[in-house]
Amino acid sequence: MDASIRQVNLQRLILALAALSALVMLGNAVWAGYQVQRQQLIDKSLEANRVYARSLAQSSQHFVLNAQQQLAVGAERLSRNLAQPAAHDDEVERIKLQTDAFNSVISVNAQGVVVGSSPALPELQGKALTSAANRQALQQRLPMVSDPFISHTGNLVVTLSHPMFDEQGDYAGYITASIHLRDPNVLHSLLGTHPYDDGSYLYVVSRNGTVLYHPDPDHVGQPATRNAAVDALSQGSSGALHSHDHRGVHMLAGFAPLPAAGWGIIAQRPAEAAVAPTGRLLHTVLRNAAPLGVLTLLLIWLCSRRIASPLQELARHAQDRDVGSAIIHVKAVNSWYYEAAELKQAVLVSFRNLSERIGLLDQATLTDPLTQLLNRRGLERALSALNASGMPFGVITFDVDHFKDVNDRHGHDTGDQVLVGIAQRMCANARPQDVLCRLGGEEFLALLPEVGAETALQVAERLRSAIEAHAFPTVGHVTISAGVSHYPETQADADLAIRQADKALYRAKQSGRNRAVLYRRRGHRTAHPEG
Ligand code: GH3
Ligand code: MG
Ligand code: MG
Repeated sequence: MDASIRQVNLQRLILALAALSALVMLGNAVWAGYQVQRQQLIDKSLEANRVYARSLAQSSQHFVLNAQQQLAVGAERLSRNLAQPAAHDDEVERIKLQTDAFNSVISVNAQGVVVGSSPALPELQGKALTSAANRQALQQRLPMVSDPFISHTGNLVVTLSHPMFDEQGDYAGYITASIHLRDPNVLHSLLGTHPYDDGSYLYVVSRNGTVLYHPDPDHVGQPATRNAAVDALSQGSSGALHSHDHRGVHMLAGFAPLPAAGWGIIAQRPAEAAVAPTGRLLHTVLRNAAPLGVLTLLLIWLCSRRIASPLQELARHAQDRDVGSAIIHVKAVNSWYYEAAELKQAVLVSFRNLSERIGLLDQATLTDPLTQLLNRRGLERALSALNASGMPFGVITFDVDHFKDVNDRHGHDTGDQVLVGIAQRMCANARPQDVLCRLGGEEFLALLPEVGAETALQVAERLRSAIEAHAFPTVGHVTISAGVSHYPETQADADLAIRQADKALYRAKQSGRNRAVLYRRRGHRTAHPEG
């Protein structure tokens, strides 16, 4: 594998994918929960402001109606004493003290001239009022609530007034009570003056859109900012909606009209303050989800390890240089799921094919192509295996007698046929565990595991006589000379035992051929037809 190519590892890939999907799901759940909670808080806040504005409007309406009633009673009582200025002062004084809701109470005659006042206002006494509210009261001769205006005394006021009639029923002026909007007044006690920490507040607008009451005194007497709530109030409706205040802050506004005075009350809360608890909710959700999240990640990590592990092991062992140990390792891989099992099977099949081919090549390098016996390399391999086992063995080495003549007389190919026939004789006379090989030319060797020296000599003799007895096609009969040795009986070193057999073979040739000779330290033991 090219180390320069940075490849993503399967386990990390699974881990990353699973973690990503878990995160997306958690994020989605948190987001959905957040949205639901946010909407609930907004709806709750809108409803609370709607109810609050309505209940304030109701109590204010009650106050206005009550005040109108007080003025009506005063007008009724004065109708009998209209000509007495002192009676006017007494009555307006009584009304002011009784209601304790007005900054001043004044009685005005049919010409708009002030007759009585409380508190006493000598500078107004006998003077004609010129305000629009005065004109309206004189013209309409009905109970009414004025728009805000600047009074003779320089105060921003709204007035409630009630007409007076004499005993004959002729119009005799009106009684008017004023509220100083910029001074502490009845609206403050009705609506409360405490500002809320979270930016919630309420304000009152008049019929003509002027602010009558506001926690910020600078707004009082100013035209109200046009917004959805003010617009809805001008239609005379009540309810709750999303709005904006004079600073452009998103507000959740409840509003209700006050029909008796033509005013409207707006109670509002910044949307941000209303949804602030969602932050805490988010925090709580994340804190509660964290342990399970960590546990899930741990589980995913374990699972990804289990999934990746067979593939990682297969990949590692596939790089093994030794096919044999690779097969053993691959077999041991726990391929617990379908794809891994298939892959393992495929790897094993290709390894077995490879191993088979290597085996065949091996075989070819160890085998003599003409006789199919082992060659010298095959002999070495077999000998070292025997050496390693420490097993005793007999050695027979033999050479065909006068084989040069066979070649000369019948040709090389026929000579080859004889060699093949001799190999067949060897095989026919050998046990499965015997190691048979052609050393080269017409020289052969056999190793006989767990066979004693004497028995090896007998086996050599049997082979010699079997070859001698065999009639080879075209050639007829051939003979061999054999040398025999034994490990450890004739030689304590297994490798040297073969040289000993060679020496015995040399002796066999020297002593007339067509015989088998066992190597002995002093003298040799010969086995041949003559005995
Ligand atoms: P002796 O061993 O009895 O002393 O006589 P020899 O004629 O067998 O003498 P030597 O062993 O020296 O000669 C071996 C001959 O075997 C020489 C060569 O012509 C022949 N030979 C060697 N290898 C092959 C082979 O692969 N095929 C054939 N047909 N002949 C071979
Ligand atoms: Mg020879
Ligand atoms: Mg020979």
